[in-house]
Amino acid sequence: MARVTLENVTKRYEDVTAVDDVSLEIEDGEFVTFVGPSGCGKSTTMETVAGLTKPTEGRVYIGDEDVTTLAPKDRGVAMVFQNIALFPHMDVFENVSFGLRLRKYDDEEIRRRVEQAAEIVQLEGMLERMPDELSGGQRQRVAIARAIVRNPDVFLMDEPLANLDAKLRVHMRTELQRLHRELGTTVVYVTHDQAEAMTMSDRIAVLNEGKLQQIAPPLTCYNEPANLFVAGFIGSPSMNFAEGERLEDGVRTEYFSVEFDPGVVPEGTVGDRVTVGVRPEDVHLAATADDLESPTAPIEARTDVLEPMGDEVFVYLLLSEAAERSMEEDPTSASDQLLMSVPPDTDVRENQSVEVVLDRSKVHLFDSETGGALVHGVTDRSDRESGRTQTEAE
Ligand code: ADP
Repeated sequence: MARVTLENVTKRYEDVTAVDDVSLEIEDGEFVTFVGPSGCGKSTTMETVAGLTKPTEGRVYIGDEDVTTLAPKDRGVAMVFQNIALFPHMDVFENVSFGLRLRKYDDEEIRRRVEQAAEIVQLEGMLERMPDELSGGQRQRVAIARAIVRNPDVFLMDEPLANLDAKLRVHMRTELQRLHRELGTTVVYVTHDQAEAMTMSDRIAVLNEGKLQQIAPPLTCYNEPANLFVAGFIGSPSMNFAEGERLEDGVRTEYFSVEFDPGVVPEGTVGDRVTVGVRPEDVHLAATADDLESPTAPIEARTDVLEPMGDEVFVYLLLSEAAERSMEEDPTSASDQLLMSVPPDTDVRENQSVEVVLDRSKVHLFDSETGGALVHGVTDRSDRESGRTQTEAE
C-alpha cells in the first residue's frame, strides 16, 4: 500500500495542455476518483501515475519514492482498463496468472495467489472456463483478479465498468467497494460517470480542462462545491443557476430575490455580478413549504413539462412569459427557468400557475466572473453548519 502524490503535474501535447499544474495527495489506502467531462484530462493524469505518460513538468511520488521517470513495471501499480484484453486462447487461470508466470513465480505460489484472487472476485469454480464462456461482468472480474495477483501498492482503474450494461455496472460498483474494503489498497479510479464517483470514493477529484477544480469527499463536493463548474457537474439533474446583482442584504436576479440573514456577509461588494445556484430538491411549492425555516419570498412561475421519475417528479418551471419565449429562441438559456423536484404524489399539473420558494439555507452564491463559491446557504444557521462540515471534512 502507498500514498500517491502529484506535484505540479503538467502534460502538454503539441496544441493542447491535457493536464495543467495538478497537485494532490492520495492517502495510503484511500479510494480517490478522477471525474470530469470527456477530454478533461482524467486518463492522462492517471497515466502519469501509471508511468504510461511522462509529465512535461512536475513530479509523481508513490510512497516516498519519486517515480516520475520509472517504468510502469517498477512502480508497484496494477492497472484495469475499460477495454479488457483477455487472451482468448487461455482459460481464466492462465489469464489471471499470466503476469506471474512471466515473472517466473513458482507454481505453488501462482496457484495460491490465483485461488485467493478468484475468491475475492467470486470466480471460484470458473478457473477453467475460456473467455468466450464468460459474461461481460465475469470477464471484468478476471481483469481485476489479474491485477490483484500482482499484489500492487496501488490499483489504477480507468473506466473499468464503462462497457458493462447499466445493471451490471451498479452491481460491480458494490463489488469494487467490497474489494477495496477487503484489500485496503490505495485505488485511483477514473470515470466520467458521477454516480460511480459519488458512490464509491472516499474523495473525488473533479477536473475540467486539465485543471483540478476540487478534491473532497463526495458530499462536500455536492453540498459545498468550490466553484460553478463543480456545482453544475456534480448532481443530476444539474443545479439551477441564475445571474444576479449583489445588493446590500441579498441578491436580485431578473425573476426573484434572495435575502441574506443579518450577519451573513458573503465576500465581495454591492453591485457585483453573482450567480445564484439552487438544486432542484431545494425548490419547493410555496403551498407545501410550511416546514421550511427560511424560504425566500414566493416566486411566480408557470409549470411547463413534468417528468415523473417514480420516487420524485421533476417539474420544469418558467419564470415568466418572457422565459417561454427565450426558451424557444435559445433552449440553452436557462436562467429564467427553474427545475424543481417534488414528491410523486403531487397534484401539480403541466401548464399551471404556481408559487415556489427556495430554501435559503441551501442557496449557493458564486462570483459570476471567477466562478468561485462565495457562500453556501445565506441563513445564519446554514452558514454555521456549512462551516462545521468543512472542518469535519478536512
Ligand atoms: P479524459 O480521460 O478526461 O477524457 P484525456 O486525458 O484522455 O481526457 O485527454 C485530455 C486531453 O488531452 C484531450 O484534449 C485529448 O485530446 C488530449 N490528448 C490525450 N492524449 C493525447 C496524445 N497522445 N496526443 C495529443 N493529445 C492528447
